Amino acid sequence: MTTEKTKCLIIGSGPAGYTAAIYASRANLSPLLYEGLQPGGQLTTTTEVENFPGYPEGIDGTQLMDDLRKQAERFGADIRTGLATSCNLEKAPYHVIIEDEKEIIADTLIIATGATAKYLGLPDETKYAGQGVSACATCDGFFYRKKIVAVVGGGDTACEEATYLSSLAAKVYLIVRKDYLRASKIMQQRIIDNPKIEVLYNHNAVGLVGEKGVEGVKLVEKTATAERNYELPIDGFFLAIGHKPNTEIFKAYLETDQVGYLKTIPGTPKTQLPGVFAAGDVADSHYRQAITAAGTGCMAAIDAEKYLSENGLL
Ligand code: NDP
Repeated sequence: MTTEKTKCLIIGSGPAGYTAAIYASRANLSPLLYEGLQPGGQLTTTTEVENFPGYPEGIDGTQLMDDLRKQAERFGADIRTGLATSCNLEKAPYHVIIEDEKEIIADTLIIATGATAKYLGLPDETKYAGQGVSACATCDGFFYRKKIVAVVGGGDTACEEATYLSSLAAKVYLIVRKDYLRASKIMQQRIIDNPKIEVLYNHNAVGLVGEKGVEGVKLVEKTATAERNYELPIDGFFLAIGHKPNTEIFKAYLETDQVGYLKTIPGTPKTQLPGVFAAGDVADSHYRQAITAAGTGCMAAIDAEKYLSENGLL
């Protein structure tokens, strides 16, 4: 195994990771960034991004991430393909292993590994990816103005996404597998009071139909006494069954909440370990936006530089 030393290691290549790399390279930290499994992160799975400030006409998600990457490279960030597979954060400097082949010893570590939206695991979700299947209503809801959409899930996210979509779509079905919603009472009430939302309890989505894009969902309604299979015409299928933060390799060293999101000192990207920062969705179960991720990536790089300077490591 080869070993390499760096002042600043960034793991993850979404808006948080790339923005951290832009700031860290402009501060002469010569950051090293490993892209992880999905170079460019979640935004590369959506089509158009219309809410990232500075693009009045919107921008393709992959293009936006390419641009952020180029901007980081312009100032000297060393961006590499590779997945962090384990780490030892017992004390500084921190050790991170890349695919069991390389060991990086880092004075500061910026964790920007993001979160992955959960899918049901139906082959049709892949078949219709970007053609009517989405796991982000704020990103893609706008394309369903006056159309019919379905949201899967019964938690706070599903209720929030359904409420958001109801302001755009003509009709929203909420597909809930149990006979009750798990969401908080206030969110449930919003759903019940909304004439555009219809809750389908005891329902499971088992497939999608459509020629070019999604035109319908195959449903199974199961109660104690009966089972009914039918198809419901829809234009968009939204998953809201939770996100899984990509924090597995850090859990032995860093505090997480009960879902697994990294805990940071409120208002900062600082974790409980000096010189270790968490930016973007990996530490944010609430906002989960590209612009908020970019913002915390910037903050992490600024704090990393301050830490290096204060500890005579620059
Ligand atoms: P949750 O885990 O709370 O809810 C997931 C929902 O998806 C549940 O209804 C669950 O059903 C359903 N589900 C899971 N897997 C499947 C499946 N395979 N098929 C069908 N349905 C499935 O996740 P959320 O993302 O909603 O929330 C995560 C956390 O973030 C929560 O603590 C929540 O309170 C919080 N949050 C808070 C918000 C706010 O306060 N504004 C907004 C959004 C999230 P079942 O109930 O049957 O298990």
